[in-house]
Amino acid sequence: MASGCCGAKAAAGEGMASEAYLAGEAVLEARELVAELCRHFYGMGWVTGTGGSITVKVNDPAVPLADRLIVMSPSGVQKERMVSEDMYVMSADGKVLSAPVGKPWPNKPPKCTDCAPLFMKSFVVFKAYLMRGAGAVIHSHGMETCIATMLNPGAKEFRMTHMEMIKGIKGHGFRDELVIPIIENTPYEYELTDSLSEAIAAYPKATAVLVRNHGIYVWGDSWINAKTQAECYHYLLDAAIRLYQLGIDWSTPEHGPINSAKRLGSIMGPGITNGCHAAESSKCVVLDIEGTTTPISFVTDVMFPYARDNVRKHLTSTFDSEETKEDIKLLRTQIEDDLRNGISGAVPVPPDDASKDEVVNALVANVESMIKADRKITSLKQLQGHIWRTGFEKKELQGVVFEDVPEALKKWHDSGIKVYIYSSGSREAQRLLFGNTTYGDLRKFLCGYFDTTTGNKRETRSYFEISQSLGVDSPSQILFITDVFQEAVAAKNAGFEVIISIRLGNAPLPENHGFRTIKSFSEI
Ligand SMILES: [Zn+2]
Repeated sequence: MASGCCGAKAAAGEGMASEAYLAGEAVLEARELVAELCRHFYGMGWVTGTGGSITVKVNDPAVPLADRLIVMSPSGVQKERMVSEDMYVMSADGKVLSAPVGKPWPNKPPKCTDCAPLFMKSFVVFKAYLMRGAGAVIHSHGMETCIATMLNPGAKEFRMTHMEMIKGIKGHGFRDELVIPIIENTPYEYELTDSLSEAIAAYPKATAVLVRNHGIYVWGDSWINAKTQAECYHYLLDAAIRLYQLGIDWSTPEHGPINSAKRLGSIMGPGITNGCHAAESSKCVVLDIEGTTTPISFVTDVMFPYARDNVRKHLTSTFDSEETKEDIKLLRTQIEDDLRNGISGAVPVPPDDASKDEVVNALVANVESMIKADRKITSLKQLQGHIWRTGFEKKELQGVVFEDVPEALKKWHDSGIKVYIYSSGSREAQRLLFGNTTYGDLRKFLCGYFDTTTGNKRETRSYFEISQSLGVDSPSQILFITDVFQEAVAAKNAGFEVIISIRLGNAPLPENHGFRTIKSFSEI
Protein backbone atom coordinates (compact mmCIF):
# COMPACT_ATOMS: atom_id res chain seq x y z
CA MET A 1 0.00 0.00 0.00
CA ALA A 2 2.58 2.49 1.21
CA SER A 3 4.78 2.18 -1.82
CA GLY A 4 1.82 2.90 -4.09
CA CYS A 5 1.18 6.39 -2.79
CA CYS A 6 4.55 7.93 -3.55
CA GLY A 7 3.71 8.26 -7.22
CA ALA A 8 2.15 11.17 -9.06
CA LYS A 9 -1.04 10.58 -7.12
CA ALA A 10 0.45 11.83 -3.85
CA ALA A 11 -1.75 14.76 -2.95
CA ALA A 12 -0.31 18.15 -3.78
CA GLY A 13 -1.20 19.16 -0.21
CA GLU A 14 1.03 16.47 1.31
CA GLY A 15 3.91 17.34 -0.95
CA MET A 16 3.49 20.97 -0.06
CA ALA A 17 3.48 20.24 3.66
CA SER A 18 6.76 18.29 3.52
CA GLU A 19 9.73 19.61 5.49
CA ALA A 20 11.62 20.15 2.27
CA TYR A 21 8.83 22.20 0.78
CA LEU A 22 8.39 24.28 3.93
CA ALA A 23 12.10 25.08 3.95
CA GLY A 24 12.10 25.70 0.22
CA GLU A 25 12.54 28.83 -1.83
CA ALA A 26 8.85 29.62 -2.49
CA VAL A 27 7.86 29.55 1.18
CA LEU A 28 10.93 31.50 2.24
CA GLU A 29 10.18 34.16 -0.34
CA ALA A 30 6.61 34.54 0.95
CA ARG A 31 7.85 34.75 4.58
CA GLU A 32 10.26 37.49 3.64
CA LEU A 33 7.61 39.30 1.66
CA VAL A 34 5.13 39.35 4.57
CA ALA A 35 7.85 40.55 6.95
CA GLU A 36 8.78 43.32 4.54
CA LEU A 37 5.14 44.33 4.05
CA CYS A 38 4.63 44.42 7.84
CA ARG A 39 7.54 46.82 8.23
CA HIS A 40 6.30 48.94 5.35
CA PHE A 41 2.67 49.06 6.53
CA TYR A 42 3.85 49.92 10.03
CA GLY A 43 5.40 53.03 8.55
CA MET A 44 2.06 53.85 6.92
CA GLY A 45 0.28 53.61 10.27
CA TRP A 46 -1.79 50.61 9.19
CA VAL A 47 -0.45 48.01 11.65
CA THR A 48 0.73 49.96 14.70
CA GLY A 49 0.09 48.79 18.26
CA THR A 50 0.51 45.21 16.97
CA GLY A 51 -2.89 45.51 15.26
CA GLY A 52 -3.77 44.50 11.72
CA SER A 53 -2.35 41.59 9.79
CA ILE A 54 -1.12 40.44 6.42
CA THR A 55 -1.54 37.08 4.72
CA VAL A 56 -0.31 36.01 1.31
CA LYS A 57 -0.44 32.77 -0.59
CA VAL A 58 2.91 31.22 -1.41
CA ASN A 59 3.76 32.07 -4.99
CA ASP A 60 4.31 28.66 -6.54
CA PRO A 61 3.01 28.41 -10.11
CA ALA A 62 3.20 24.61 -9.94
CA VAL A 63 0.41 24.55 -7.36
CA PRO A 64 -3.19 25.65 -8.06
CA LEU A 65 -4.02 28.91 -6.25
CA ALA A 66 -6.72 27.21 -4.15
CA ASP A 67 -4.19 24.71 -2.72
CA ARG A 68 -1.28 27.04 -2.04
CA LEU A 69 0.08 27.48 1.46
CA ILE A 70 -0.66 30.69 3.31
CA VAL A 71 1.92 32.77 5.14
CA MET A 72 0.48 34.87 7.95
CA SER A 73 1.89 37.55 10.21
CA PRO A 74 1.48 36.82 13.94
CA SER A 75 -0.40 39.18 16.22
CA GLY A 76 0.89 40.75 19.39
CA VAL A 77 4.29 41.22 17.79
CA GLN A 78 6.00 44.49 16.90
CA LYS A 79 5.26 44.68 13.20
CA GLU A 80 8.16 46.98 12.36
CA ARG A 81 10.67 44.39 13.64
CA MET A 82 9.16 41.48 11.78
CA VAL A 83 11.53 39.00 10.17
CA SER A 84 10.78 35.96 8.05
CA GLU A 85 11.18 33.51 10.99
CA ASP A 86 8.28 35.23 12.78
CA MET A 87 5.67 33.99 10.31
CA TYR A 88 3.09 31.27 10.54
CA VAL A 89 2.76 28.96 7.57
CA MET A 90 -0.61 27.33 7.13
CA SER A 91 -2.17 24.87 4.73
CA ALA A 92 -4.92 26.11 2.42
CA ASP A 93 -7.49 24.65 4.81
CA GLY A 94 -6.09 26.45 7.84
CA LYS A 95 -3.81 23.92 9.57
CA VAL A 96 -0.70 25.47 11.14
CA LEU A 97 2.29 23.79 9.47
CA SER A 98 4.99 25.95 10.94
CA ALA A 99 4.89 28.38 13.88
CA PRO A 100 7.51 30.91 14.97
CA VAL A 101 9.79 30.07 17.90
CA GLY A 102 8.95 31.99 21.07
CA LYS A 103 11.28 34.80 22.10
CA PRO A 104 12.36 35.48 25.70
CA TRP A 105 10.72 38.05 27.96
CA PRO A 106 9.73 40.86 27.55
CA ASN A 107 8.42 39.54 24.24
CA LYS A 108 4.95 38.06 24.37
CA PRO A 109 4.69 34.44 23.31
CA PRO A 110 3.56 34.50 19.70
CA LYS A 111 -0.03 33.53 19.11
CA CYS A 112 -1.63 33.04 15.78
CA THR A 113 -3.35 36.28 15.04
CA ASP A 114 -6.90 36.75 16.26
CA CYS A 115 -7.84 37.12 12.67
CA ALA A 116 -6.88 33.52 11.83
CA PRO A 117 -10.36 31.93 11.88
CA LEU A 118 -11.63 34.85 9.89
CA PHE A 119 -8.99 34.53 7.24
CA MET A 120 -9.27 30.79 7.13
CA LYS A 121 -12.98 30.95 6.57
CA SER A 122 -12.49 33.68 4.03
CA PHE A 123 -9.85 31.79 2.13
CA VAL A 124 -11.12 28.30 2.45
CA VAL A 125 -14.71 27.96 3.50
CA PHE A 126 -16.30 30.93 1.99
CA LYS A 127 -17.08 30.17 -1.60
CA ALA A 128 -17.45 33.67 -3.01
CA TYR A 129 -14.04 34.52 -1.66
CA LEU A 130 -12.52 31.54 -3.35
CA MET A 131 -14.41 32.31 -6.54
CA ARG A 132 -12.70 35.67 -6.56
CA GLY A 133 -9.36 33.94 -6.35
CA ALA A 134 -7.90 35.89 -3.46
CA GLY A 135 -4.13 35.61 -3.28
CA ALA A 136 -3.55 38.06 -0.43
CA VAL A 137 -5.50 39.80 2.32
CA ILE A 138 -4.42 42.97 4.08
CA HIS A 139 -6.10 43.92 7.32
CA SER A 140 -5.35 47.50 8.31
CA HIS A 141 -6.13 49.51 11.43
CA GLY A 142 -5.24 52.72 9.58
CA MET A 143 -6.93 55.61 11.36
CA GLU A 144 -8.69 56.84 8.20
CA THR A 145 -10.35 53.45 7.74
CA CYS A 146 -11.69 53.69 11.28
CA ILE A 147 -12.87 57.32 11.31
CA ALA A 148 -14.56 57.11 7.90
CA THR A 149 -17.00 54.58 9.40
CA MET A 150 -17.80 56.96 12.26
CA LEU A 151 -19.01 59.90 10.15
CA ASN A 152 -22.42 58.30 10.16
CA PRO A 153 -22.82 55.55 12.76
CA GLY A 154 -25.98 54.26 11.05
CA ALA A 155 -24.54 53.87 7.55
CA LYS A 156 -24.12 50.39 6.16
CA GLU A 157 -22.10 51.53 3.17
CA PHE A 158 -19.45 54.02 2.21
CA ARG A 159 -20.04 55.54 -1.23
CA MET A 160 -17.87 57.78 -3.37
CA THR A 161 -17.56 58.76 -7.02
CA HIS A 162 -15.51 60.88 -9.46
CA MET A 163 -12.10 60.58 -7.80
CA GLU A 164 -9.12 59.52 -9.89
CA MET A 165 -7.91 57.03 -7.27
CA ILE A 166 -11.15 55.03 -7.63
CA LYS A 167 -9.52 53.69 -10.81
CA GLY A 168 -7.09 51.81 -8.57
CA ILE A 169 -9.94 49.66 -7.26
CA LYS A 170 -10.56 46.54 -9.33
CA GLY A 171 -13.46 46.86 -11.77
CA HIS A 172 -13.91 50.61 -11.31
CA GLY A 173 -13.52 53.63 -13.56
CA PHE A 174 -13.34 57.31 -12.63
CA ARG A 175 -17.09 57.80 -13.08
CA ASP A 176 -18.11 54.64 -11.25
CA GLU A 177 -19.53 54.70 -7.78
CA LEU A 178 -17.32 52.95 -5.28
CA VAL A 179 -19.37 51.17 -2.62
CA ILE A 180 -17.65 49.65 0.42
CA PRO A 181 -19.90 47.68 2.78
CA ILE A 182 -19.57 48.50 6.49
CA ILE A 183 -20.05 45.79 9.12
CA GLU A 184 -20.30 46.28 12.88
CA ASN A 185 -17.35 45.54 15.13
CA THR A 186 -17.31 42.63 17.61
CA PRO A 187 -15.29 42.09 20.80
CA TYR A 188 -13.16 39.40 19.12
CA GLU A 189 -11.95 39.60 15.58
CA TYR A 190 -12.90 36.01 14.69
CA GLU A 191 -16.53 36.86 15.50
CA LEU A 192 -16.56 39.01 12.38
CA THR A 193 -16.50 35.90 10.19
CA ASP A 194 -20.24 35.63 9.49
CA SER A 195 -20.96 39.28 8.84
CA LEU A 196 -17.84 39.56 6.69
CA SER A 197 -18.95 36.57 4.64
CA GLU A 198 -22.41 38.06 4.25
CA ALA A 199 -21.00 41.39 3.11
CA ILE A 200 -18.75 39.68 0.56
CA ALA A 201 -21.73 37.76 -0.79
CA ALA A 202 -23.99 40.81 -0.88
CA TYR A 203 -21.44 43.01 -2.69
CA PRO A 204 -20.06 40.98 -5.59
CA LYS A 205 -18.05 43.92 -6.86
CA ALA A 206 -16.41 44.75 -3.52
CA THR A 207 -12.73 44.05 -2.87
CA ALA A 208 -12.85 45.42 0.68
CA VAL A 209 -15.05 45.48 3.76
CA LEU A 210 -14.93 48.19 6.41
CA VAL A 211 -15.39 47.28 10.06
CA ARG A 212 -16.88 50.11 12.09
CA ASN A 213 -14.59 51.78 14.64
CA HIS A 214 -11.95 49.23 13.68
CA GLY A 215 -10.41 49.12 10.21
CA ILE A 216 -10.59 47.50 6.81
CA TYR A 217 -10.02 44.16 5.07
CA VAL A 218 -8.74 44.39 1.51
CA TRP A 219 -8.09 41.46 -0.78
CA GLY A 220 -6.66 40.96 -4.23
CA ASP A 221 -5.61 38.11 -6.47
CA SER A 222 -1.96 38.83 -5.68
CA TRP A 223 -0.12 40.73 -2.94
CA ILE A 224 0.59 43.51 -5.43
CA ASN A 225 -3.05 43.84 -6.27
CA ALA A 226 -4.10 43.81 -2.61
CA LYS A 227 -1.43 46.37 -1.68
CA THR A 228 -2.29 48.72 -4.55
CA GLN A 229 -5.96 48.64 -3.68
CA ALA A 230 -5.26 49.06 0.03
CA GLU A 231 -3.30 52.21 -0.80
CA CYS A 232 -6.18 53.55 -2.89
CA TYR A 233 -8.76 52.74 -0.20
CA HIS A 234 -6.71 54.54 2.45
CA TYR A 235 -6.30 57.54 0.16
CA LEU A 236 -10.03 57.72 -0.66
CA LEU A 237 -11.18 57.30 2.95
CA ASP A 238 -8.73 59.95 4.07
CA ALA A 239 -10.06 62.22 1.31
CA ALA A 240 -13.65 61.68 2.50
CA ILE A 241 -12.73 62.71 6.04
CA ARG A 242 -11.05 65.86 4.80
CA LEU A 243 -13.92 66.67 2.44
CA TYR A 244 -16.34 66.20 5.32
CA GLN A 245 -14.39 68.76 7.33
CA LEU A 246 -14.56 71.14 4.38
CA GLY A 247 -18.28 70.53 3.94
CA ILE A 248 -17.77 69.05 0.48
CA ASP A 249 -19.89 66.18 -0.78
CA TRP A 250 -17.81 63.25 -2.11
CA SER A 251 -20.80 61.14 -3.12
CA THR A 252 -21.96 63.13 -6.16
CA PRO A 253 -20.15 63.77 -9.46
CA GLU A 254 -20.16 67.55 -8.86
CA HIS A 255 -18.65 67.34 -5.36
CA GLY A 256 -20.58 70.45 -4.36
CA PRO A 257 -21.12 71.67 -0.80
CA ILE A 258 -22.78 69.14 1.49
CA ASN A 259 -26.34 70.36 1.50
CA SER A 260 -27.42 71.08 5.05
CA ALA A 261 -30.82 69.48 4.62
CA LYS A 262 -29.37 66.48 2.89
CA ARG A 263 -26.23 66.24 5.01
CA LEU A 264 -24.99 62.73 5.40
CA GLY A 265 -28.23 61.24 4.10
CA SER A 266 -27.28 60.40 0.58
CA ILE A 267 -23.57 60.45 1.25
CA MET A 268 -23.66 57.56 3.64
CA GLY A 269 -26.69 55.73 2.30
CA PRO A 270 -29.81 54.98 4.29
CA GLY A 271 -29.66 54.58 8.00
CA ILE A 272 -29.25 58.27 8.70
CA THR A 273 -29.03 59.09 12.36
CA ASN A 274 -28.21 62.28 14.15
CA GLY A 275 -25.83 63.28 11.39
CA CYS A 276 -28.86 64.59 9.56
CA HIS A 277 -29.60 67.24 12.22
CA ALA A 278 -33.22 66.47 12.92
CA ALA A 279 -33.62 69.89 14.53
CA GLU A 280 -33.37 71.61 11.16
CA SER A 281 -36.69 70.18 10.21
CA SER A 282 -38.94 67.84 12.00
CA LYS A 283 -40.63 66.63 8.83
CA CYS A 284 -39.67 63.98 6.34
CA VAL A 285 -41.41 62.81 3.20
CA VAL A 286 -41.03 59.23 1.99
CA LEU A 287 -42.12 58.56 -1.58
CA ASP A 288 -43.00 55.43 -3.44
CA ILE A 289 -42.03 55.49 -7.15
CA GLU A 290 -44.38 53.50 -9.40
CA GLY A 291 -47.84 55.04 -9.39
CA THR A 292 -46.66 57.90 -7.16
CA THR A 293 -43.77 59.85 -8.72
CA THR A 294 -43.72 57.87 -11.94
CA PRO A 295 -46.33 56.23 -14.18
CA ILE A 296 -46.63 52.50 -13.52
CA SER A 297 -46.33 52.03 -17.26
CA PHE A 298 -42.79 53.43 -17.22
CA VAL A 299 -41.45 50.31 -15.57
CA THR A 300 -43.57 47.84 -17.48
CA ASP A 301 -43.51 49.58 -20.87
CA VAL A 302 -40.04 51.16 -20.89
CA MET A 303 -37.64 49.71 -18.33
CA PHE A 304 -38.34 45.99 -18.63
CA PRO A 305 -38.63 45.96 -22.43
CA TYR A 306 -35.35 47.90 -22.64
CA ALA A 307 -33.59 45.31 -20.49
CA ARG A 308 -35.17 42.46 -22.47
CA ASP A 309 -34.22 43.93 -25.86
CA ASN A 310 -30.62 44.73 -24.93
CA VAL A 311 -29.39 41.49 -23.35
CA ARG A 312 -27.43 40.42 -26.42
CA LYS A 313 -26.05 43.87 -27.17
CA HIS A 314 -25.00 44.39 -23.56
CA LEU A 315 -23.35 40.99 -23.14
CA THR A 316 -21.55 41.27 -26.47
CA SER A 317 -20.23 44.78 -25.97
CA THR A 318 -19.15 44.31 -22.34
CA PHE A 319 -18.22 40.63 -22.54
CA ASP A 320 -14.67 41.09 -21.26
CA SER A 321 -15.43 43.58 -18.47
CA GLU A 322 -15.04 42.42 -14.87
CA GLU A 323 -18.65 43.33 -14.15
CA THR A 324 -20.06 41.25 -16.98
CA LYS A 325 -17.75 38.36 -16.14
CA GLU A 326 -19.27 38.40 -12.64
CA ASP A 327 -22.79 38.61 -14.11
CA ILE A 328 -22.08 35.63 -16.35
CA LYS A 329 -20.62 33.65 -13.46
CA LEU A 330 -23.79 34.28 -11.47
CA LEU A 331 -25.98 33.33 -14.45
CA ARG A 332 -24.02 30.13 -15.01
CA THR A 333 -24.60 29.06 -11.40
CA GLN A 334 -28.32 29.79 -11.71
CA ILE A 335 -28.60 27.98 -15.04
CA GLU A 336 -26.80 24.92 -13.68
CA ASP A 337 -29.32 24.84 -10.84
CA ASP A 338 -32.17 25.28 -13.29
CA LEU A 339 -30.92 22.44 -15.49
CA ARG A 340 -30.59 20.19 -12.47
CA ASN A 341 -34.13 21.07 -11.40
CA GLY A 342 -35.54 20.67 -14.90
CA ILE A 343 -36.74 24.28 -15.19
CA SER A 344 -38.23 24.70 -18.64
CA GLY A 345 -36.38 27.05 -20.95
CA ALA A 346 -32.99 26.41 -19.32
CA VAL A 347 -30.33 25.45 -21.87
CA PRO A 348 -26.70 24.48 -21.20
CA VAL A 349 -24.10 27.23 -21.59
CA PRO A 350 -20.89 26.18 -23.37
CA PRO A 351 -17.72 26.44 -21.26
CA ASP A 352 -15.68 29.64 -21.05
CA ASP A 353 -13.29 28.52 -23.77
CA ALA A 354 -16.08 28.23 -26.35
CA SER A 355 -16.53 31.12 -28.77
CA LYS A 356 -18.01 34.34 -27.44
CA ASP A 357 -20.98 34.02 -29.81
CA GLU A 358 -21.84 30.53 -28.59
CA VAL A 359 -21.70 31.62 -24.95
CA VAL A 360 -23.75 34.77 -25.59
CA ASN A 361 -26.35 32.86 -27.64
CA ALA A 362 -26.91 30.38 -24.83
CA LEU A 363 -27.04 33.12 -22.18
CA VAL A 364 -29.56 35.15 -24.19
CA ALA A 365 -31.81 32.10 -24.59
CA ASN A 366 -31.72 31.46 -20.85
CA VAL A 367 -32.26 35.09 -19.87
CA GLU A 368 -35.19 35.41 -22.26
CA SER A 369 -37.00 32.48 -20.68
CA MET A 370 -36.19 33.80 -17.19
CA ILE A 371 -37.81 37.11 -18.13
CA LYS A 372 -40.78 35.37 -19.73
CA ALA A 373 -41.34 33.41 -16.53
CA ASP A 374 -41.00 36.68 -14.53
CA ARG A 375 -38.46 35.10 -12.21
CA LYS A 376 -37.29 37.12 -9.21
CA ILE A 377 -33.71 35.89 -9.07
CA THR A 378 -30.56 37.80 -8.21
CA SER A 379 -28.63 36.88 -11.35
CA LEU A 380 -31.39 38.29 -13.56
CA LYS A 381 -32.00 41.38 -11.43
CA GLN A 382 -28.29 42.17 -11.37
CA LEU A 383 -27.93 41.85 -15.13
CA GLN A 384 -31.02 44.00 -15.70
CA GLY A 385 -29.59 46.64 -13.37
CA HIS A 386 -26.37 46.75 -15.39
CA ILE A 387 -28.25 46.96 -18.71
CA TRP A 388 -30.31 49.84 -17.34
CA ARG A 389 -27.24 51.66 -16.11
CA THR A 390 -25.69 51.42 -19.54
CA GLY A 391 -28.98 52.63 -21.02
CA PHE A 392 -29.10 55.66 -18.74
CA GLU A 393 -25.44 56.42 -19.37
CA LYS A 394 -25.98 56.30 -23.12
CA LYS A 395 -29.13 58.41 -22.72
CA GLU A 396 -31.13 55.67 -24.41
CA LEU A 397 -33.17 55.56 -21.21
CA GLN A 398 -34.50 58.53 -19.26
CA GLY A 399 -36.33 58.47 -15.96
CA VAL A 400 -39.94 59.65 -16.15
CA VAL A 401 -41.64 61.56 -13.33
CA PHE A 402 -45.00 63.35 -13.32
CA GLU A 403 -44.68 67.05 -14.10
CA ASP A 404 -45.66 68.16 -10.58
CA VAL A 405 -42.87 66.08 -9.01
CA PRO A 406 -39.71 68.19 -9.64
CA GLU A 407 -41.42 71.32 -8.35
CA ALA A 408 -42.65 69.64 -5.18
CA LEU A 409 -39.25 68.08 -4.52
CA LYS A 410 -37.59 71.48 -4.85
CA LYS A 411 -40.16 73.17 -2.62
CA TRP A 412 -39.76 70.55 0.14
CA HIS A 413 -36.01 70.63 -0.18
CA ASP A 414 -35.86 74.43 0.02
CA SER A 415 -38.01 74.50 3.14
CA GLY A 416 -35.77 71.94 4.88
CA ILE A 417 -38.08 68.95 4.53
CA LYS A 418 -36.03 65.86 3.86
CA VAL A 419 -37.27 63.62 1.08
CA TYR A 420 -36.55 59.90 0.74
CA ILE A 421 -37.50 57.19 -1.69
CA TYR A 422 -38.82 53.76 -0.69
CA SER A 423 -39.36 51.47 -3.64
CA SER A 424 -39.02 47.81 -4.49
CA GLY A 425 -36.52 48.62 -7.24
CA SER A 426 -32.89 48.47 -6.08
CA ARG A 427 -31.36 51.62 -4.66
CA GLU A 428 -29.03 51.76 -7.65
CA ALA A 429 -32.01 51.68 -10.02
CA GLN A 430 -33.71 54.40 -7.95
CA ARG A 431 -30.69 56.66 -8.17
CA LEU A 432 -30.38 56.03 -11.91
CA LEU A 433 -34.02 56.96 -12.43
CA PHE A 434 -33.89 60.20 -10.41
CA GLY A 435 -30.41 61.06 -11.64
CA ASN A 436 -31.45 60.97 -15.29
CA THR A 437 -35.01 62.25 -15.58
CA THR A 438 -36.47 64.28 -18.42
CA TYR A 439 -36.29 67.15 -15.89
CA GLY A 440 -32.59 66.58 -15.24
CA ASP A 441 -30.88 65.22 -12.13
CA LEU A 442 -33.32 65.32 -9.21
CA ARG A 443 -31.06 63.54 -6.74
CA LYS A 444 -30.00 66.89 -5.29
CA PHE A 445 -33.45 67.11 -3.71
CA LEU A 446 -33.29 63.63 -2.19
CA CYS A 447 -31.82 62.66 1.17
CA GLY A 448 -31.65 58.89 0.78
CA TYR A 449 -33.04 55.71 -0.68
CA PHE A 450 -34.65 52.61 0.81
CA ASP A 451 -35.42 49.39 -0.99
CA THR A 452 -36.65 45.97 0.04
CA THR A 453 -33.43 45.26 1.93
CA THR A 454 -35.15 47.39 4.58
CA GLY A 455 -38.14 45.05 4.40
CA ASN A 456 -41.29 44.22 2.48
CA LYS A 457 -43.30 47.32 1.60
CA ARG A 458 -46.51 45.80 2.88
CA GLU A 459 -45.14 45.09 6.36
CA THR A 460 -45.44 47.56 9.22
CA ARG A 461 -42.03 46.51 10.49
CA SER A 462 -40.37 48.07 7.44
CA TYR A 463 -41.82 51.47 8.29
CA PHE A 464 -40.64 51.19 11.90
CA GLU A 465 -37.22 50.45 10.45
CA ILE A 466 -37.37 53.56 8.25
CA SER A 467 -38.51 55.84 11.08
CA GLN A 468 -35.58 54.54 13.15
CA SER A 469 -33.21 55.28 10.30
CA LEU A 470 -34.55 58.78 9.76
CA GLY A 471 -34.00 59.59 13.42
CA VAL A 472 -37.31 61.41 13.93
CA ASP A 473 -38.75 61.81 17.41
CA SER A 474 -42.06 60.34 16.33
CA PRO A 475 -43.12 58.39 13.20
CA SER A 476 -45.98 60.89 12.78
CA GLN A 477 -43.35 63.38 11.56
CA ILE A 478 -42.99 61.28 8.41
CA LEU A 479 -45.39 61.61 5.50
CA PHE A 480 -45.55 58.54 3.25
CA ILE A 481 -47.11 58.77 -0.20
CA THR A 482 -48.00 55.63 -2.14
CA ASP A 483 -50.59 54.31 -4.57
CA VAL A 484 -50.86 50.87 -2.94
CA PHE A 485 -53.55 50.43 -0.29
CA GLN A 486 -51.71 47.66 1.63
CA GLU A 487 -48.57 49.82 1.86
CA ALA A 488 -50.65 52.73 3.11
CA VAL A 489 -52.12 50.52 5.86
CA ALA A 490 -48.70 49.17 6.86
CA ALA A 491 -47.25 52.69 7.13
CA LYS A 492 -50.29 53.98 9.03
CA ASN A 493 -49.92 51.16 11.55
CA ALA A 494 -46.34 52.27 12.12
CA GLY A 495 -47.65 55.75 12.96
CA PHE A 496 -46.82 57.48 9.66
CA GLU A 497 -48.99 60.16 8.12
CA VAL A 498 -50.16 58.65 4.82
CA ILE A 499 -51.57 60.00 1.57
CA ILE A 500 -52.62 57.84 -1.37
CA SER A 501 -51.60 59.01 -4.79
CA ILE A 502 -54.12 58.66 -7.57
CA ARG A 503 -52.49 58.68 -10.99
CA LEU A 504 -53.59 57.59 -14.43
CA GLY A 505 -53.03 53.86 -14.80
CA ASN A 506 -53.04 53.05 -11.07
CA ALA A 507 -55.03 50.10 -9.75
CA PRO A 508 -58.41 50.98 -8.21
CA LEU A 509 -58.62 51.40 -4.41
CA PRO A 510 -61.01 49.54 -2.12
CA GLU A 511 -64.16 51.49 -1.27
CA ASN A 512 -64.13 53.51 1.98
CA HIS A 513 -60.38 53.07 2.32
CA GLY A 514 -60.30 56.07 4.63
CA PHE A 515 -57.08 57.69 3.39
CA ARG A 516 -56.60 61.18 2.05
CA THR A 517 -55.96 61.06 -1.70
CA ILE A 518 -54.25 63.45 -4.10
CA LYS A 519 -53.96 63.61 -7.87
CA SER A 520 -50.87 65.85 -7.85
CA PHE A 521 -48.13 66.71 -5.36
CA SER A 522 -49.17 70.35 -5.74
CA GLU A 523 -52.19 69.55 -3.51
CA ILE A 524 -49.94 68.90 -0.50
ZN1 LIG B 1 -8.19 44.13 13.42
